[in-house]
Amino acid sequence: MKISGLLIVWYLFGNIFYVAAQGRDREIKVSLDEQSAVKQIEIPKNRKIKNVVLMIGDGMSLTHMYSAWAVNKRRLNLENCQAVGLAKTCCYDRLITDSGAAGTALATGHKTRYHFVGVDPEGKPLQTLTDLATAKNKSTGIVVTCRLNDATPAAFCAHNTDREAAEAIIADYVHCGVDFIFGGGKRYFDERSDGRNILEEMQRAGYQIPADKAGLDTIKKGKVLAVWDKHDLPRPGVRKEILSEISSKALDFLAQNKKGFFLMIESSQIDDYGHSNQLKPLMEEILDFDRTVGKVFEWAARDGQTLVIVTADHETGGLTLVGGSLENGEIVGKYSTGDHSGVMVPVYAFGPGAEKFTGIYENTDIFLKIKELLKL
Ligand SMILES: [Zn+2]
Repeated sequence: MKISGLLIVWYLFGNIFYVAAQGRDREIKVSLDEQSAVKQIEIPKNRKIKNVVLMIGDGMSLTHMYSAWAVNKRRLNLENCQAVGLAKTCCYDRLITDSGAAGTALATGHKTRYHFVGVDPEGKPLQTLTDLATAKNKSTGIVVTCRLNDATPAAFCAHNTDREAAEAIIADYVHCGVDFIFGGGKRYFDERSDGRNILEEMQRAGYQIPADKAGLDTIKKGKVLAVWDKHDLPRPGVRKEILSEISSKALDFLAQNKKGFFLMIESSQIDDYGHSNQLKPLMEEILDFDRTVGKVFEWAARDGQTLVIVTADHETGGLTLVGGSLENGEIVGKYSTGDHSGVMVPVYAFGPGAEKFTGIYENTDIFLKIKELLKL
């Protein structure tokens, strides 16, 4: 036992050191074989706001977007946004936040302690945007590329003083009331140490649980939980366009409610490649997210009553561009940390009410602005 334990520790440390050593304080050159699709999107004229889509790039900041813009040969769908602001990311007890406290700020409007999800600094459960929207008879959705117990979705759907309490967080989904749920982490639903089967419990609570994308496509109304990957979803090259496809499905699904909807979409693994200091997969994640942003903006432009906000919870990796070539779509980047960095994050807005997101404010104000605009 002791020897195998030591081997595991040696293996983990070896890997962390190896991954960090690849990127930290070293110049990494990246270019792509093909560019990511970008469209020019017409700005909707309508002033009425019925729906809000909050899109979070976990660990994504200005340098990430500018790097993706450069490797994509000076084009991003995000550039269709109408307004930009800056959000302060510090949490209740630290200058540099984690995703738990930052997600809680966005989901509930409260600054909380590092590693807390959906609870205040004293550990008391908080109402989230999905709770408030449900109370106003709006439909709600969560679409993420990580396991559903990970910090950002947990901040919207669960309440815990420990973001690592995977099984307890997943058990909270039974009562979260969210209508459309997509993400990974199936093993925390049906391979649990407490013997509970959360998939069966959610089925009894009225959720339809499709086994795959084809199954999901046959579901037209009601509540749906789509969880197919045991842990996080695989990287973009493997999972293909699943984030934009499921996001589009969620929009059509939720829009059937005449009272409107709130949808949170997260590109969760941008953060992972900041932590591991890997620049090429980071660019692939950002451009996958940008294609999804393009699809959501297009949908919102057609609908005319949907406000879309694109932001981040914090920056990861301390990424800096130190060189590159516009002509060749090449970037030279350097990471300064394998952790989160302390910086304000941009907030991009598209659709009616976008102008409310200009200026400098706290991340908790994003919640307050959404609450006010949707009259929650
Ligand atoms: Zn994060």
